[in-house]
Amino acid sequence: MPRITSVTVECKCGEKIFKYHKSGTGRLIKCFVSKISADYFSLPKKLPTGSAVACPKCGERVGVVQMIKGQVAVKLNQGQIKPIRIG
Ligand SMILES: [Zn+2]
Repeated sequence: MPRITSVTVECKCGEKIFKYHKSGTGRLIKCFVSKISADYFSLPKKLPTGSAVACPKCGERVGVVQMIKGQVAVKLNQGQIKPIRIG
């Protein structure tokens, strides 16, 4: 079993976006929607591919919805979130 770490994804403006159960070590690049544990604002459960995830406070784009390995995931915009690295 890989190590699971609960991390909070935050916008650069300080707004919390969601909590995520990251497996393994390294930099957080993408978040599978099925492993997002708590929304600070309501992330729609059915997200169309290509739609943007915007910060509710500043409106900047913090990620984009993509299909990764057949699962719905949020690919994070590294320039707009606080960097998260485990390990
Ligand atoms: Zn923000």
